[in-house]
Amino acid sequence: MRAFAYHAPASLAEAVAILRREGPGGRVLAGGTDLLVQMKERGTVPRCVVSLRAVADLSHVSFQPGRGLVIGSRASLTDVITNPIVRERYPIIVESAGLVGSHQIQNLGTVGGNLCNAAPSADTAPPLIALGAILRLHSDQGQRDLPISEFFVGPGRTALGEGELLSEIIVPAPHAHSGGSYERYTPRQEMDIAVASVASFVTLAPDGTVVHARIILGAVGPTPLHAHAAEAELIGKKPTGEIIEAAASAAVSDARPISDQRGSESYRKHLINVLTRRTLTRAIVSAQG
Ligand SMILES: Cc1cc2nc3c(=O)[nH]c(=O)nc-3n(C[C@H](O)[C@H](O)[C@H](O)COP(=O)(O)OP(=O)(O)OC[C@H]3O[C@@H](n4cnc5c(N)ncnc54)[C@H](O)[C@@H]3O)c2cc1C
Repeated sequence: MRAFAYHAPASLAEAVAILRREGPGGRVLAGGTDLLVQMKERGTVPRCVVSLRAVADLSHVSFQPGRGLVIGSRASLTDVITNPIVRERYPIIVESAGLVGSHQIQNLGTVGGNLCNAAPSADTAPPLIALGAILRLHSDQGQRDLPISEFFVGPGRTALGEGELLSEIIVPAPHAHSGGSYERYTPRQEMDIAVASVASFVTLAPDGTVVHARIILGAVGPTPLHAHAAEAELIGKKPTGEIIEAAASAAVSDARPISDQRGSESYRKHLINVLTRRTLTRAIVSAQG
């Protein structure tokens, strides 16, 4: 492997200062479950690696009233999955993070790394978009908050600027009478990546009418896709079986899948129909309490 510089700063300020000083070609290392594989197996070795391991102020998972759930970008997937508040108030995050790799991968890997790697199949991305998460990005120039829906630019590409890193993921508290669900299809039960995935999240009025719906499709486009046509089938209606079927059919028209060795375009469209119907049904049952 080609030689590279390795830095292990102890603070966020130090980390962004190193990224700025090193200039283009620096990469952040969180759990390393994507980055180290890319370096070892694909030979994509950055000029410099800035590890977050020693940055203590990024490992929190906490609920802050008025802000919501705050996940530090160094918190492991296991830290998130086992957090009692996440389990109680954000089960859709537990559902998706719990599918990533294995327990070993979850002990090392982070939600932040899953997002910044920007694979179209990343399991935590669709639920976090459905929940309306905000990403806090830091550089030596300061910080900015970006809606997660604007973060993904293409396969492996994000809106992170030069010298910028993700410091926190902020997830608003779900409204009352809300429910969500995530499901992916993989040929193998374990250690596989999604051929297609769907996150559905709905909020109901007291009379059962859908007042808010987000349906996000994974692995059927260059980035996770917002299924606007499917959502339009739901808003202002009481969700009957027929309405759910109509939304699932509409989601197929929102998908832009390619054919590759893991699945053809038509198979992926079929999966989107099935997964939208299943996740919407569960989300509605959960919102109905
Ligand atoms: C065996 C195996 C199975 C897997 N299974 C799945 C799966 O089922 N589903 C799935 O979605 N993924 C899967 N993955 C991929 C990977 O484990 C996840 O994407 C994981 O969440 C990555 O987190 P990490 O902390 O290890 O990221 P890293 O490898 O540390 O980083 C990933 C990328 O993000 C960048 N980055 C990381 N943190 C930051 C930050 N704070 N700011 C800016 N840039 C940052 C890095 O520079 C790198 O480009 C699997 C990987 C392996 C090896």
